[in-house]
Amino acid sequence: MDHVVSSMFRGITRDRDRGDPLIATASAGHSELAVKRFLKFTFPYIAVHLSCLFVLTVGFSWFALIVSILVYLTRGIGITGFYHRKFSHHAFQTGRVVQFVGAWLGASAAQGGPLWWVAHHRRHHKVSDEQGDLHSPLVEGFGISHHGWLARSNADPTHVKDVEDLARYPELCWLDRNAWIPILSTAFGLLFAGIAIGRLFPWTGTNGPQLVIWAFFLNTVLLWHVTFAVNSVCHRWGKRHHETTDDSRNNWLIGVMALGEGWHNNHHRFPGTSRHGFKRSQVDFTHLVIRTLARVGLARDLHPVPARLWLSSKPSRWTI
Ligand SMILES: [Zn+2]
Ligand SMILES: [Zn+2]
Repeated sequence: MDHVVSSMFRGITRDRDRGDPLIATASAGHSELAVKRFLKFTFPYIAVHLSCLFVLTVGFSWFALIVSILVYLTRGIGITGFYHRKFSHHAFQTGRVVQFVGAWLGASAAQGGPLWWVAHHRRHHKVSDEQGDLHSPLVEGFGISHHGWLARSNADPTHVKDVEDLARYPELCWLDRNAWIPILSTAFGLLFAGIAIGRLFPWTGTNGPQLVIWAFFLNTVLLWHVTFAVNSVCHRWGKRHHETTDDSRNNWLIGVMALGEGWHNNHHRFPGTSRHGFKRSQVDFTHLVIRTLARVGLARDLHPVPARLWLSSKPSRWTI
């Protein structure tokens, strides 16, 4: 099971010197790619969902719930702050160590390696809601835009030409090829921590299996669907505060759940900002974290929201 989980979402093995993997896969038969995609995504995706049913056997503890929330926020920031805002859009800069830690956290969310994730996301911005957008609810329907696109063989390759800026970093390429390591580290770390805490502090009411189910499996599934909802829900339901060439929306529920990413119409209007909420009521937890990192010297060059795009009259407190 863990081996299966480890390989989920991974793009094909790639190496800068071998060029664009799309070329490498062009000669492969379609059925071969389909089988590969089934083993990489569809089977483990279903298996992880089914694993959540073990919640009925491991029981509940407040400790496990709190740990799960903390893990959700931490891995979520890896996706929203680093995979998305930093790597995909260069919304802020960090040193190389912080960059790697952020990429590690993102990879631990079992959403693929950083190069694969960023390459697909940049393609989405290039052709949003047009032919070629792999996860547009307007082009393909809601189910495909939410998660069905991941089961297709054309979701597999990484367009290395779209991420040459990231491919300059050997540690990010290594992480991209070995995205299973942060995933397994998280799962086993929670297992061993749960065993130890359950024995040392029995009042917590937790144990290893409980912590793994609550803070890894349930957590992973929730984070998947919230991330996927940015692609599906936020291109269908919500307010359009800005005219854009796509059908992106600002959706408050996804805005909260996805740590600020649900202000998606704002994001498509001006993708390079470190803050996605363009007014005070549009809460943006990711930006709060980025701003905190900047204040302690771990992030710099935060790209502010242009004053002309602010949706409220008092932006000064929220600008960088
Ligand atoms: Zn979008
Ligand atoms: Zn984006």
